[in-house]
Amino acid sequence: MSVPYSTDDAGHPAPSDGLSQSVGPNGPLLLQDHFLIQKMAHFNRERVPERVVHAKGGGAFGEMEITEDVSQFTKADLFQKGKKTPLLLRFSTVAGELGSADSARDPRGFALKFYTEHGNYDLVGNNTPIFFIRDPSKFSDFIHSQKRRADNQLRDNNMQWDFWTQNPESAHQVSFLMTDRGTPKNWRHVNGYGSHTFLWYNANGEKFWVKYHFKTDQGIENLTAGEAKALEAEDPDAHRRDLWQAIERGDFPSWTVKVQIMPFEDAADYRFNPFDLTKVWPHGDYPEITIGKFTLNRNPSNYFAEIEQAAFEPSNLVPGIGSSPDKMLQGRLFSYPDTHRYRIGPNYLQLPVNQPKSPVRSYNFDGPMTYTNQVDPVYAPNTVGGPTAAEAMYEGEQYEVTGEIIRSAYKLHKEDDDFGQARALWENVLSETDRANMVSNIVGHASAPEVTGDMKKRVVEYWTNVHPDLGAGVAKGLGVQG
Ligand code: NDP
Repeated sequence: MSVPYSTDDAGHPAPSDGLSQSVGPNGPLLLQDHFLIQKMAHFNRERVPERVVHAKGGGAFGEMEITEDVSQFTKADLFQKGKKTPLLLRFSTVAGELGSADSARDPRGFALKFYTEHGNYDLVGNNTPIFFIRDPSKFSDFIHSQKRRADNQLRDNNMQWDFWTQNPESAHQVSFLMTDRGTPKNWRHVNGYGSHTFLWYNANGEKFWVKYHFKTDQGIENLTAGEAKALEAEDPDAHRRDLWQAIERGDFPSWTVKVQIMPFEDAADYRFNPFDLTKVWPHGDYPEITIGKFTLNRNPSNYFAEIEQAAFEPSNLVPGIGSSPDKMLQGRLFSYPDTHRYRIGPNYLQLPVNQPKSPVRSYNFDGPMTYTNQVDPVYAPNTVGGPTAAEAMYEGEQYEVTGEIIRSAYKLHKEDDDFGQARALWENVLSETDRANMVSNIVGHASAPEVTGDMKKRVVEYWTNVHPDLGAGVAKGLGVQG
């Protein structure tokens, strides 16, 4: 069988696949061997910086179909009944580096990119409906505490508890993390949540607040702490492998798309601040409404090009959907595109995986790695027929906000506190087995040799605030006296 000849990156036929040019068989190599120089230089540049968070992951392509009419809530084209929209979903762990184990205890990233008719819509969510903090000014400190120390580059559970116990708003999310949902069986068996509150507005300009829930049709399945540890050693890439293999054999995973809708006016005096990312909206207040389903049915053909370089950003919003006063969302609207400009380059949106499938007629152009051709005119406004803004498509997005410029915590609503919803999880949702596993997971985590005696006391106090029985179980396990 004849195979085609190999080339360098510019298409020149390669003179050899394994021999560099030298002065005689034993002599030094030559600088003129540009084939060798290109091979070594390109190899040195094979990596882009890994993501600071959510570095280890995997993903696949698929399609969402909307089966219900929600046009009374949003005019967004991807949410109209009967609409099918192609998508990319990337799963990840948060704290570990690129080669870290998939089964580590951590939230799972659940980042969606929908290729809509009005540009890309990204929902950069997690497998939990909440988060550890509610103000973005704490984000880098939080992540530093979960990653590695400066002196020895080791993970440090004492540092993690130090941050969590001094930031009690973390208790709800740490509760999720310490149940067996913190160690899912694989990515196919996790729910996804948009987590933030977003704005929806319809064709009449009526506004609603919305939360997204993506329920796994495979059912939730988790590992115990022991099973997760064993899998870390046995196959650090187990979750990446599981998703890839399922799709290769035609066993396409799917998720049911649900939303909670809050009338715009309810937000002002709802019993919880509806923009606080550490809180859910209890289903009894705002029931989940099923609106469609999505399925993953295609693996990437090049992992680096399509997953490593995939750039998700909550600022990818489309007409019919807006942001909200959620402070964490506001911070992420800046930080995601900013990190992509640094990590991949200013023209990351021109890469095929990030490029919208709808036309791009932007007046931004040039910069490193420009791939598309800018056409004249290159400025707006102009009198020569260049594209003009689609103001009417954003009608309905506007709302009034007034207030002093201050640095302050959120204004508390009637039932806002740091522990109540975590307590509801413990009291009303978790089974006896879930509770027992949660206690032993916490005890296991806080028993690491670096966790000091004083820190263990703080840990017990933190969990006692969630529920006295939980605190007592943790105290017993850690050997902390009352
Ligand atoms: P509900 O009883 O209506 O809902 C509880 C929800 O908890 C379930 O629908 C399920 O949501 C989720 N759940 C079930 N088992 C577990 C588990 N082992 N670990 C974590 N979550 C689980 O009660 P409320 O809506 O009034 O909420 C009560 C508490 O439930 C909240 O304080 C929160 O901690 C938790 N919760 C609430 C969610 C919400 O959006 N309201 C979502 C998830 C948890 P799902 O199908 O999404 O897994």
